[in-house]
Amino acid sequence: MDQHSYTQALLEFLGASPTPFHAVANLGSLLAEHGFVEIRESDDWQRLLPGRYFIRRNDSSLIALVLTSSGPAATGLRMAGAHTDSPCLKIKPSPARTNHSLLQLGVETYGGALLSPWFDRDLSIAGRVLWQDGEGAIHSSLLDFKRPVAVIPSLAIHLNREANEQKQVNKQTDMVPIIMQAGSEEEANFFALLGEELLRDNPGAQKAKILDHELILYDCQPPTLLGIKGEFLAGGRLDNLLSCFALIRGLLEADSPQNSLVVLNDHEEVGSMSASGAQGPFLLSVLERLLPDVNDRRRCLTRSFFISVDNAHAVHPNFADRHDKGHLPRLNGGPVIKYNAGQRYATSSRSGALYRILAERAGVPIQEFVMRSDLACGSTIGPLTAAAHGVAAVDIGVPTLAMHSIRELAGASDPWHLALSLRTFFGTPDDDPAWQCLG
Ligand SMILES: [Zn+2]
Repeated sequence: MDQHSYTQALLEFLGASPTPFHAVANLGSLLAEHGFVEIRESDDWQRLLPGRYFIRRNDSSLIALVLTSSGPAATGLRMAGAHTDSPCLKIKPSPARTNHSLLQLGVETYGGALLSPWFDRDLSIAGRVLWQDGEGAIHSSLLDFKRPVAVIPSLAIHLNREANEQKQVNKQTDMVPIIMQAGSEEEANFFALLGEELLRDNPGAQKAKILDHELILYDCQPPTLLGIKGEFLAGGRLDNLLSCFALIRGLLEADSPQNSLVVLNDHEEVGSMSASGAQGPFLLSVLERLLPDVNDRRRCLTRSFFISVDNAHAVHPNFADRHDKGHLPRLNGGPVIKYNAGQRYATSSRSGALYRILAERAGVPIQEFVMRSDLACGSTIGPLTAAAHGVAAVDIGVPTLAMHSIRELAGASDPWHLALSLRTFFGTPDDDPAWQCLG
């Protein structure tokens, strides 16, 4: 693994993963290519033999496992996690409406999206569709139009002279993408359009009846390196697919990985409270089946360490006063350790010290972030996982600008440095003195 090939693979993954469903499918394929065996929650498995496994839930969350011959009860688990979802516009169940000969789609805002950047973009549609074939069988298919099919045009400045001074966005009335020039009623049938698109990848969908869908809009502009010397990386969903990719690649590239577990949860951007979210039972249910004896499970978790990876706020040169003066993470300055006295981040002095050691060994620079004391702090899956399982945890992430915009910006070297530190984490042997501070 070198920085150039890693970055190219990351750009490819980001472009091919417009939704959590696509991200989990792509990471599942990557794991399978590297010898990981998929096991299903509906199968009968307990006390897995040493090996490499992965498990999906709802097609949008994933757990990857490496089990060595020394069981995790004695050694603990190298645990790490991130979230697969990103703020976006989600298409409503019955979205089509025709206005002034234009077919438009009603959308809900998913998560804390920064809405202004969604105007005047070449948008496409992707997600999961449930459909029934002519024989009555039900299918679940991923769908990606892959081409510009929608747009939310701005109102011309001539019709709103205050546009630059007072930009307010109404989620119900302003965020309504146009998808086609509508002629007749039949032409304006959104479900018929979905059926046509479904046929491209599913020849059996001839007489498909669309039962339900979870579709979102995304920006067609592919992710890219940017800057005179290519110092930056721009793209959609850097929060938090950049971290998902670093975790899986870090695990795959580790020299003889120890007992390890990577959990990628959906629904972080809407509070994590779902069957596949970090407040749901996915991780607990896997841990319970892995270590059915509660004594073994407690021993394991006490010796385990959880790295929660989610992007951090880099200092914005035009708005530097939004940061605490002593904590100004910069693009390309390395991964950021996130601290919050109110436990919005899970980092403690112990977990922070451990990550510092790992980063140092990997030759990776690190930075620190703490919110200004007079601004509210965000959060992520770190504190939720630490609280639910009683595991020592640290919150880290790559510094970014424009977080939750349709297109975010990171430094070009930070994703690589993040992956190197995670590779070191998964490969650090059980008898390494670093782990003595746990348990
Ligand atoms: Zn995030």
